[in-house]
Amino acid sequence: MPVPPAPVLNPQNMEPVTPDFLNVLFPMELIMQEVSTDRYIDIPEEVQDIYKLYRPTPLLRARRLEKILDTPAHIYYKYEGASPAGSHKPNTAIPQAFYNKVTGTKALTTETGAGQWGSALALACQLFDLDLEVYMVKVSYQQKPYRRILMETYGAQVFASPTDKTQFGQSVLEQDPESNGSLGIAIAEAVEAAATSGGAKKYGIGSVLNHVLLHQTIVGEEVLKQMDMADEYPDVVVGCVGGGSNFAGIAYPFLRQNLLEGQRTRLLAVEPTASPSLTKGVYTFDYGDSAKLAPIVKMYTLGHDFVPPPIHAGGLRYHGMAPSLCALYEAGYIEAKAVPQLATFDAAVMFSRAEGILPAPESAHAIRGAIDEALDAKEKGEERVILFNLSGHGHFDLEAYDAYHNGELQDFEYPEKDIAEAMQTLPEVPQPA
Ligand SMILES: *Cc1c(COP(=O)(O)O)cnc(C)c1O
Repeated sequence: MPVPPAPVLNPQNMEPVTPDFLNVLFPMELIMQEVSTDRYIDIPEEVQDIYKLYRPTPLLRARRLEKILDTPAHIYYKYEGASPAGSHKPNTAIPQAFYNKVTGTKALTTETGAGQWGSALALACQLFDLDLEVYMVKVSYQQKPYRRILMETYGAQVFASPTDKTQFGQSVLEQDPESNGSLGIAIAEAVEAAATSGGAKKYGIGSVLNHVLLHQTIVGEEVLKQMDMADEYPDVVVGCVGGGSNFAGIAYPFLRQNLLEGQRTRLLAVEPTASPSLTKGVYTFDYGDSAKLAPIVKMYTLGHDFVPPPIHAGGLRYHGMAPSLCALYEAGYIEAKAVPQLATFDAAVMFSRAEGILPAPESAHAIRGAIDEALDAKEKGEERVILFNLSGHGHFDLEAYDAYHNGELQDFEYPEKDIAEAMQTLPEVPQPA
């Protein structure tokens, strides 16, 4: 990291978190990765064996899309939707399950919104013979059954959150027996279930933390070799950002090449205008979750009480962003832009008709970013080499495509005044002397 990390604080006493605090939720190996400054960490043999189910993922050139856009740019994409669970998320689910297994964990808990992360961890837990409890936001549990069925097929237990299995869930149900749930409630339930299990259960997280981003860098490391085979090198690397893991996974190895090898690749993070953490958020200390259980970190945030507007890219609705990515953005090593929903689906449909793959709505933000780069290159007459991460397929998101085809989708700009208001509820963090 060319910029020093900000401290991570315990929400109970505002002191820097200790390994013991984190060890309630994560095995020590993952905590050591979280704070490691080693340049490389070896991938265990057992993890590599399972990666072989789908890695290396293909790097493809979108020649038909280039033709339709009539651009001199070369567009490449890394297809992480080729994993069994359909996204990049198994890249971290598999090592997380492995490190838990070897340190004696019997079961993991986690939350999931629409189910991408839950299905990745369900697969990983099955492969390492761990039990998995998934707290799935109730409204998704009821309205989006297919990912639940996938998780159950992989062997996970899936509960509609709020449940009566945790104290937090019970307290929510007492106040509102008909509660639809929220990601914040589901996180609180999954964390409580692990923290009160006496060490038998730990918690798995799908994005934001350093160890998750580290695991995802296999994506960029593979692309470096694949681009070499294609005898090209990207001028710009594009990825969508929710918590930041698939973007960091493809971009950080190229950042290393920029810093150490004198390359000058631009790194572009694309987010929805409906959830614009990097482009409109404030760089400050905030709670990682709305229940105020997760550590306080310095990040670009829309406020921990952020209520996401109903956009169809469920995986891009987090109020904050990975702290390392925020520090790099603040220091100018990374660019960011926000794109509206309709233009994003336009790009997704154009891509699927040109290249055949139906992208996840999240990934479509990266496609929008890549197409805009290609159009800009056309205007300037540049043979720009554009690389983007196609983080997942959209086979479980057909309702959103249906809504788009029926003209039911709308653009939404998150209001500045809501962000300003949310800044009133930031934690009071002691200033360093
Ligand atoms: C979860 C998800 C994302 C967003 O998460 P990041 O940590 O920002 O990568 C993006 N794309 C897909 C397909 C996802 O499932």
